[in-house]
Amino acid sequence: MPEEVLKEAAAEMLDCNGTGQSVMEMSHRSSAFEPIIEECEAVIREVMNIPSNYKVLFLQGGASTQFAMIPMNLKRKGKAAYVNTGVWSKKAIAEAKKYMDTVDVIATSEDKNFCYIPKIEKVTGDYDYVHITFNNTIMGTKWGYIPETGDIPLVADISSCILSEPLDVTKFGLLYAGAQKNLAPAGVTLVIIREDLIPEEMPVANTPTMLQYKVHAENGSMYNTPPCYTIYMMGKVLKWIKANGGAEGMAKRNNEKADYLYNYLDNSDFYHATAEKGSRSLMNVPFLTKYSTNDGSEEAKAKEKAINAKFVKEAEAADLMNLKGHRLVGGMRASIYNAMSIEGVKALVAFMDKFAKENA
Ligand SMILES: *Cc1c(COP(=O)(O)O)cnc(C)c1O
Repeated sequence: MPEEVLKEAAAEMLDCNGTGQSVMEMSHRSSAFEPIIEECEAVIREVMNIPSNYKVLFLQGGASTQFAMIPMNLKRKGKAAYVNTGVWSKKAIAEAKKYMDTVDVIATSEDKNFCYIPKIEKVTGDYDYVHITFNNTIMGTKWGYIPETGDIPLVADISSCILSEPLDVTKFGLLYAGAQKNLAPAGVTLVIIREDLIPEEMPVANTPTMLQYKVHAENGSMYNTPPCYTIYMMGKVLKWIKANGGAEGMAKRNNEKADYLYNYLDNSDFYHATAEKGSRSLMNVPFLTKYSTNDGSEEAKAKEKAINAKFVKEAEAADLMNLKGHRLVGGMRASIYNAMSIEGVKALVAFMDKFAKENA
């Protein structure tokens, strides 16, 4: 979260907009809360340049619930195509298999532990939709291009890269993001869906009411109580993004940060980045030390484990948090979301350099 936003929220904690109430105390149907959700939607439409034939929905259940809602709502002929680029893709595929008759994994990068994004040709076939994970939070990869799918709606999980750089919404039928990585505290999931994809009648029998896009679209995301405070915080983050140059401003900031870190990694003989050039994420940067390229003996593995643990512990002591890598990649991972400053990245690199010299 940007510090300015946290400070603003702190100042309004007991009295928001002269209402004498905290946002936490407002009724979601009150005249006090209405402008908050309306403004949040207006700003997201503006900064993402969302056309009027797309609905913006504020839902709950995280991106993980979308893994099921997407096939449940988009099923027509019963066939979907997925690209497997890591953990979150796999989870999405597993859910889709429960509701679709056929799920084709049309490409995968599993052969190299998901360190790259496959190059796919124009997708054709009688698919109801094509699903991709645009930024792979754990593997540290990002699609450097938008695949061609013709008339087949393209669906993308943008949980960990939303508004990190400009994205052409018109190329997608549906975009979704758990807001907690780049936009807000946990609790709200954003769904941006082209109106013609919202089914009149649910294709899957007995779909729970809460899992129907139509219900949320027709009720302005107020079929039940929305996560009011999270939506209020998201509105503030969106205004911060707008004030800092919008999606273009974020791209400039994020490219500067990522370039600084990758340049250091690429020129280091102690560390190396795991993601291949051309597929690298702007947001999540996994890296290993030279101790990872070893003979695989128990002794060598123990040495690597000890170095990684030492790195994370000493980093924390230097106020550099959350650097432990995911177990599927190992090593370390720096998540440098929108709110992270270039100064933060420079502090990380300075620490890394000191650590490398002390442990060479
Ligand atoms: C974090 C994450 C998820 C899971 O999000 P939840 O909101 O916790 O369900 C899904 N996809 C991606 C790409 C993520 O980074």
